[in-house]
Amino acid sequence: PPTNMSTEINKMSPKKKIAIMTSGGDSPGMNAVVRACVRMAIHMGCDAYCVYEGYEGLVRGGDLIKKMDWYDVRGWLSEGGTLIGTARCMAFYERAGRLTAAKNMILNGIDALIICGGDGSLTGADRFRAEWPSLLEELVSTGELTAEQVQAYKHLNIVGIVGSIDNDLSGTDATVGCYSALARICMCVDLIEATASSHSRAFVVEVMGRHCGWLALMAGVATGADFIFIPEKPREDNWREEMCSVVQEHRKLGKRKTIVIIAEGALDKFGNKITPEQVRDLLADKDGLALDTRITTLGHVQRGGTAVAYDRMLATLQGVEAVKAVLEATPETKTCFIAITENKIVRKPLMEAVLDTKKVAKAIESQDFDGAMALRDAEFSEQYKSFMMTTAGQIDHEKLLPEKERMKIGFINVGAPAGGMNAAVRAGVAYCLSRGHEPIAIHNGFAGFARHHGDSPLGAVRPFDWLEVDGWASKGGSEIGTNRELPSESGMETIANLIEQYQFDALFLIGGFEAFHAVSQLRKAREQYPSLCIPMTLLPATISNNVPGTEYSLGSDTCLNELVDYCDKIKQSASATRRRVFVIETQGGRSGYIATLAGLGVGASAVYLPEEGLSLDMLSEDVRHLKEVFAQDKGQSRAGRVILINEKASKVYNAKLIADILRDEAHGRFESREGIPGHMQQGGVPSPMDRCRAVRLAIKCIQQLEKYGRNVHNRVKTDPMSASVIGIKGASVVFTPIQKLEEEETDWPNRRPKAAFWLSMKEIVDILGGRPRHSLPE
Ligand code: ATP
Repeated sequence: PPTNMSTEINKMSPKKKIAIMTSGGDSPGMNAVVRACVRMAIHMGCDAYCVYEGYEGLVRGGDLIKKMDWYDVRGWLSEGGTLIGTARCMAFYERAGRLTAAKNMILNGIDALIICGGDGSLTGADRFRAEWPSLLEELVSTGELTAEQVQAYKHLNIVGIVGSIDNDLSGTDATVGCYSALARICMCVDLIEATASSHSRAFVVEVMGRHCGWLALMAGVATGADFIFIPEKPREDNWREEMCSVVQEHRKLGKRKTIVIIAEGALDKFGNKITPEQVRDLLADKDGLALDTRITTLGHVQRGGTAVAYDRMLATLQGVEAVKAVLEATPETKTCFIAITENKIVRKPLMEAVLDTKKVAKAIESQDFDGAMALRDAEFSEQYKSFMMTTAGQIDHEKLLPEKERMKIGFINVGAPAGGMNAAVRAGVAYCLSRGHEPIAIHNGFAGFARHHGDSPLGAVRPFDWLEVDGWASKGGSEIGTNRELPSESGMETIANLIEQYQFDALFLIGGFEAFHAVSQLRKAREQYPSLCIPMTLLPATISNNVPGTEYSLGSDTCLNELVDYCDKIKQSASATRRRVFVIETQGGRSGYIATLAGLGVGASAVYLPEEGLSLDMLSEDVRHLKEVFAQDKGQSRAGRVILINEKASKVYNAKLIADILRDEAHGRFESREGIPGHMQQGGVPSPMDRCRAVRLAIKCIQQLEKYGRNVHNRVKTDPMSASVIGIKGASVVFTPIQKLEEEETDWPNRRPKAAFWLSMKEIVDILGGRPRHSLPE
């Protein structure tokens, strides 16, 4: 071809050899990153390489840099740690080490490097990239490589993914592995609580985090601990006195257990280390609280084990994004890392994040604790405030509102139970009490409300008992009871009269699509019933995640963990017996969200959704594909295969029928079975993410109601925001008027939002699962 054309092609042709490495401390989800990068790279027509043992592999070269095949990463989603190894590499701190690393990369023809590690690893990466031109110059000038050899590698293309259990990198809300570590911690604290309560003991639980208190803070929020110590925010006053008085206050309320969570790097405001032993001695002091106190140091169990659903999702989406970033990079592109802000995967400049992270450590060192807090993401300081609000136990008179601004707020759960509902109620109640509002429990939804009079066991309307509510942080189900009935079914007039009779100033609803529908009905009935002209807000909570106005509902994370866990176990049994495909039916109503996300987390071979439907053509294509896969399989596939089908994906095909069709078609080459996890999907103990988000969002909801104050009927009538839904949308947390959602964003017949933000993830499930591209049914 003419020269200009070939340069054009060169410019457009993607980088061909992409290497992936894990470095620093291992974290759950790293294998999912490697799987996603390897498969996405291959899918994009590139060669994928793994560098084993972190930077050590780059420096030593040889066998430690390996080309990867599509099937080399089968089953990696459910494996803990990192299967390509990680190491602390001293040589890479030195220029000589980095010089050898550069040479090895060029000799292997590697154009781009994706590094998954903590801030140290990413600092190393940035240094490597900054030095790259001079490293090449040196390699040529010393004759180790020729000018021709280095010609094609003038620009080092590096992309970072933050893999760390500490969640210590600035610029991203979560790092791959942090929610898994948090899940382990919360599980341990939940277990400890039972024994603490039985013996009326105190426990000091030490968690990881030398410079970052994220794990300790979030564990405190999720478990409703009595007191926490984190490096970024030492207590203002004398921490000894403060802790003792808080614990004493809680004991006076009647609490039988005391849990104090302390980060490894906890400091007092003078920068002195606070140790678990000091805390224990204080709690046990005979002249003071004299509590029977034990220390539990969680240590490496926090790193261990398989990744939770969220980490698998994060790892997979970030791996895919990293490969895209590599392919789109030009010599001018700044080195980036892949971050997440609320619910949005974004590319950000690597160096700024590394510098900000270092600034946090410096700020802590120089005892500039406000500076340290400011450098953490917004969620961190918000959660800190949430923790303080929900556990204080003491009334801070300065925070109380003037008498006339205090509101009577009705709390009501609507629809099926979902993980985090109780945590949300608890946080809302705690916040109300701290401001002087009167939180009232409406038991068993609108049905309970309408029929609670007399001896009816259906419901009750009564103030909360804080001692009882305080124990709800980690409880599953709905303690105040929930019901699917809509206000129209209970009788709108009855509901309106009851609101008037109880003189509610506001309503706080927690629930799924029925709750959304209920708020919509209440809003519409305002014309007719003036007593409904009070502010009301909905915190979405449903495993189906189908509430308009949000991309995330409480309970959906818990549900995904259950599903991923179920599928992992089933896949294992499938591979242990014989070659088997499991067809698993998920809940979700007419929303394919959980089926898709579970598919992402377990690496499903196919996912069938109501949004896409299921045709005979699709099914036969998938059957044919599976037959091919099993025919080619020479035993390298260790894990079984999973197909997920949402309960309402098709009127004709269900899990059993698909499993039967597969079995019949397989002619003995493989087996197939159906599995229906059913209500197990609601989960037992809610996930820490659901609990933490419940706390944060519930407080925001009450603050939203509080903006209106009392006796604002006229204002409420004309203000669309007075009936709203809180949601996480992309990178922000927002309230949206229910009216706008009803009219513009709701697919009423299908009971879901019109736009499914997650549909693009379905494509990723298909790509990484190796599913052939289909044409969807009309
Ligand atoms: P964790 O969050 O688990 O601590 P990390 O990535 O921060 O993970 P480190 O031990 O700090 O872990 O770094 C991992 C490796 O990255 C080091 O062993 C070293 O090879 C390389 N590295 C770290 N910092 C630098 C640096 N400033 N210059 C060059 N290489 C570095």
